[in-house]
This record gives sequence, structure tokens and C-alpha cells, in this order.
Amino acid sequence: MAGRAEAAVHRHDMVVIGAGLSGLRAAIELSDAGLDTTVISKVLPLRSHSVAAQGGINASLGNVAGEDGAMDSWEAHAYDTVKGSDYLADQDAVEVMCREAPRTVIELEHMGTVFSRLENGYIAQRPFGGAMFPRTCYAADRTGHNILNTLYEQALDREIRFYEEYYTTALVRDGGRCTGCTAIELLTGRVHGFAAKAVLLATGGFGRLYSRSTNALINTGDGVALALCAGVPLKDMEFIQFHPTTLFGTNILITEGARGEGGRLYNSNNERFMERYAPHSLDLAPRDVVARAIEEEIAAGRGFEGGYVYLDLTHLGADHIRARLPGIRQIAMDFAGIDPITDPIPVQPGQHYSMGGIDVNNRGETRLPGLYAAGECACSSVHGANRLGGNSLLETVAFGKLVARAIVQNTQGLPAPATDAVRSRAASEQERIDVLLGRKTGENLFAIMDDLKDTMFEYFGIFRDERHMKEGISRLERLQERFERVHVKNKSRVFNQALIRLLELEDMLLLAAVLAQSALRRRESRGSHTRTDFPARDDEHFLAHTLAHLRDSAIDLEYEPVRLGMFEPTEREY
Ligand SMILES: Cc1cc2nc3c(=O)[nH]c(=O)nc-3n(C[C@H](O)[C@H](O)[C@H](O)COP(=O)(O)OP(=O)(O)OC[C@H]3O[C@@H](n4cnc5c(N)ncnc54)[C@H](O)[C@@H]3O)c2cc1C
Repeated sequence: MAGRAEAAVHRHDMVVIGAGLSGLRAAIELSDAGLDTTVISKVLPLRSHSVAAQGGINASLGNVAGEDGAMDSWEAHAYDTVKGSDYLADQDAVEVMCREAPRTVIELEHMGTVFSRLENGYIAQRPFGGAMFPRTCYAADRTGHNILNTLYEQALDREIRFYEEYYTTALVRDGGRCTGCTAIELLTGRVHGFAAKAVLLATGGFGRLYSRSTNALINTGDGVALALCAGVPLKDMEFIQFHPTTLFGTNILITEGARGEGGRLYNSNNERFMERYAPHSLDLAPRDVVARAIEEEIAAGRGFEGGYVYLDLTHLGADHIRARLPGIRQIAMDFAGIDPITDPIPVQPGQHYSMGGIDVNNRGETRLPGLYAAGECACSSVHGANRLGGNSLLETVAFGKLVARAIVQNTQGLPAPATDAVRSRAASEQERIDVLLGRKTGENLFAIMDDLKDTMFEYFGIFRDERHMKEGISRLERLQERFERVHVKNKSRVFNQALIRLLELEDMLLLAAVLAQSALRRRESRGSHTRTDFPARDDEHFLAHTLAHLRDSAIDLEYEPVRLGMFEPTEREY
């Protein structure tokens, strides 16, 4: 049995877990600084969810003038971001990101990203929700695909070592530091140890906690759970973004860029209902506002049967749709059988993004020395209670680079880590997995997973209240009990995907519990967190970040004040 073999232990200066945009950007910077860097990914790097990003990346390049001829600036970008966040974002972190943005996009262009262009040859920018200026740089509606391929090529060029199809199962702590991790090689089922001076988590979001989600199936929040189990707190986990326009039925994303290009929302009375909810910004109000509006229209009987509204692009014309939204047209034709050139697209809100995550500072440092986080798994709090479209791609690339710089500084002069703790953890992880595989009968893993997703959507969705959330928490507790008896039928060690789903489910249940507790305790409505029993924002008590710790297997919540700055909290109007 593999469990009896001595675990293989690999030694590198630096281990990056995750090969999406944040992991790759960091790896490139680390490698350029001379650190022997390796990247672990549970899928082939180009299958990371970043590849699916459609609409674009924000930067105040000012290539397209605003409404009254005014020019964009990093301050305007920061203002939109802080207002969009419903004032929960830390304003110093927002400043770092917005100042860094123009440099980030130009650097990507120089690395080889093929952005769409204006007639004058400058990088094109489209309007996006909640933004005062057309600020979102894009490559048609396949921006993530373009950027991820660019960074992957750059990483290959530097001969960075990839451990592809390795699933990380645990972080290793030794002497008060993170000194590595353990990962299953999917091909053989063997657990390997990785010893390093530092570990960067760049493992993406946890959208698959929800039944209706735009996220890739791999977005199960493993890294977020790993950090929590290693003693690092999670921040603002109650804030889940629901994207207003996902394709009815499959919930594949229909980019905000479609409304940025002029697309309009209609209810079943053929009304542009956004006039009622956001008289100035209309369809380009921020996502929390538009998602709530659609749900309210449907609840009031002004949606279409099954629960959707229409997104109409037909007035944009065939040429414009073909040039700017080719991917969206293809998705609508392949998955809904309609052509947006001639027919409106049926859309409904779906889970899209995790604003909360691993608590980090502006340099991507966690409270555990040697452990860092960047990208969607991290919460440096640039998005607060609601993220603006186009700011996530920016965050991944900008903070991917900045966290690498912090790591280079912090690891200078550190000796290579001892491998003993990593080796013994790899052995105990192998044993744990052998025990799981050895179970002959028990609960069906996929039934628990489906119940979990439905519970999250139903009880912790767009609208929340105490009674339902308490019921949801009881359901989650019952699912956890069932999980203790879970088993997998497939006993193979070679590419055992069921085993990986089981390990993911363990993490998902933990994160669901944290999310639920955090949502219940926040007795106000802010950004994406809408409490029908507490409809107002309550700055007196909740202008604060939720921090969730795992102490003696129990979730312990505390609050930390938001770092304000240039922008005083006021009521949001769009
Ligand atoms: C459909 C869609 C469209 C989007 N469009 C936009 C957009 O236009 N603009 C914008 O700003 N944002 C957009 N977003 C959000 C944005 O794309 C993501 O937030 C961002 O790409 C996340 O990047 P990341 O580097 O943090 O992680 P990801 O790209 O999600 O990568 C995570 C990596 O972690 C690895 N991993 C995870 N767990 C493990 C484990 N246990 N062991 C080993 N490896 C592991 C995975 O293999 C993967 O390589 C979109 C999101 C979606 C879902």
C-alpha cells in the first residue's frame, strides 16, 4: 500500500499553491528575484478559473473620456471602489490597488496580452457597473483567457517548476512558522511533502458552495479552509457576490460587459425596471443593486416563468456583438439555443464571487509567519461588502506582484527549512486518506454536496433573515454529522476524482459554517449582505470586519474596525 512507503519530500525556496492569475504573477516575480519557486495546482494551470474571466480589468488609463469630457484618475477609481464596497473596504488597501492599476495593465501588455484597441491604437476601455468612467480594459469578452495564457507563457519561459494535478491537503506549521505543505499526486494517489521558506496561497474562491454559481467546479475554497485550520483567521466571509446576469438554467456568466456595451434589462411587462432602482446608473449600477432589483421584480410577478428577466442586446447590431461579445453570443447559442443578435437573453442572478477570505494585510502577509495569500482566496479588503466588476482581475495581478515582493524581503537570509515536520505530516495525511478510502459503507458524498449547495442558496442567498439562517445552520450541522460517515465507492489510487471531491467537501462544510455564523451575527444590510430583518446599514456597530477563528474546533467571531481614509461613509446612491 502507498501508505507504507516513505513520503517523497521536495524542497524549494518558495511554494505557490494555485496557478491562476495571482499565483502565476507572484511566481514570475519570485523567480525573477532569484528564488527557486514551484507552483502546485490541482488542475492543469490553464484550467484555473481565471481563464473564464470575460469582461475585463480596471485601470484608470483615461483612454476614453467620461460623460462630460472629464478624465479618469486613480482617485476616481478609489472612490468608486470604496463606494461600491459600501464603505467596508480598507481605504489604504484600495489606494495601493488603484495606484498600481495603470502600471499593471501596461506591464501585461508588454508581456504579450492582446487587449482590444480603440481606433487610435490605445487600449480600449468599456464602462462597467458602479464606475464613473469607462475604465475596464478588455480583450473582447475573453480577457481572463488572454491574461492567463500570457502569464503561463512567461512562467514557462522562466522554467518555473509546476506540480500539476497535485491536490494540497494540509499546511505544515513548525516552530511558529509555515514551512510547507502536503499534496496528493492525483496520478498515483501518493501524498508528497513540500518544504519551503514560505508558502503562498493563491487558490481562488469558494463559489461552488452554492447551487447556482458561475464558478468553475474546482472553486471549492480549499486554500481558505487550509489557512483556517492552520490557525489563520478568515475575514468578512458573509459577503458573497451574486452576479445579476447569469444564463437562466445553467448559470453560465453573461458578462457585465454586455451591459457595458449598451445591453438593457427588461421585465415581463417590457419595462426597463432599473429606472425604478437606480435612476441614474440604470443597468450599470453595482452588482448588489442590480441583483436585488431582478429578484424583487421576479418576486413581484414581473419576471418570466421559472424566474428570469431579459437582457436585450439586439439594438447593438450584429457587427458590434460579433466584435465585442463573441464569447457571449456563442454561450447563448450553445447553451440557450438563442442568438443575441436577434433575441434577448434570459438571465437570473447567481453566485459569482467571494469577497471574504484569508485575512491578509496590504502586503499579502497572514498572521502566521511564512504564510501568504493573494487573489480571490485572500481578503486584503479592497472589495469590502461588494466588489466592482473588473477589480478582481486587477487585484490578482497587482497583489500577486506585491505579495511576491514582500516574500522576497521577508525570506532574505532564512535558512532552508528542516524537512522533518513536512515528512511526518505527509505520512499522517497519507494515513488519513487511507482510512477514508478504507471505509466500506456510509453516506453518499454527492448527496451531501448537493444538499449543501441547495442549503446555501436557499438560506444564505441574496436575501437573508435570522429565522431562515438559524434553520440553515441546523441543516448545515446535520450535513456535518452525515459527513462524519461519508464514504467513496471508488477505491482506486489512480486519478480518484471521488476522493478529491470528498476532501473538497470537507473544506466546503467548514467554510459554509463560518459563512453562516458570520452572516447571522451581522445584524445590518451592507453591500451584498441583505438582511430583510435589518434593512439599514448600521455604521455605529458594523463598520467593522468580521474575523473568524477556529479555536478548539469551534468558530469564534470577533470584529476589527475598517481603516477609513479619504472617503467618509455616506449613503450610496446610483
Ligand atoms: C465566469 C467568471 C468571469 C469573471 N470575469 C471577471 C472579469 O471580467 N473581471 C474581473 O475582474 N473578474 C472576473 N471574475 C473574477 C476573477 O476571474 C477571479 O476572481 C480571479 O480570476 C481569481 O483568480 P485567482 O488567481 O485568485 O484564482 P483562480 O484563477 O481561481 O485559480 C485558483 C488556483 O488554485 C488551484 N487550487 C485550488 N485549490 C487547490 C488545492 N487544494 N491544491 C492545489 N491547487 C489548488 C487551482 O488549481 C487553480 O490553479 C470572473 C469570475 C468568473 C467565475
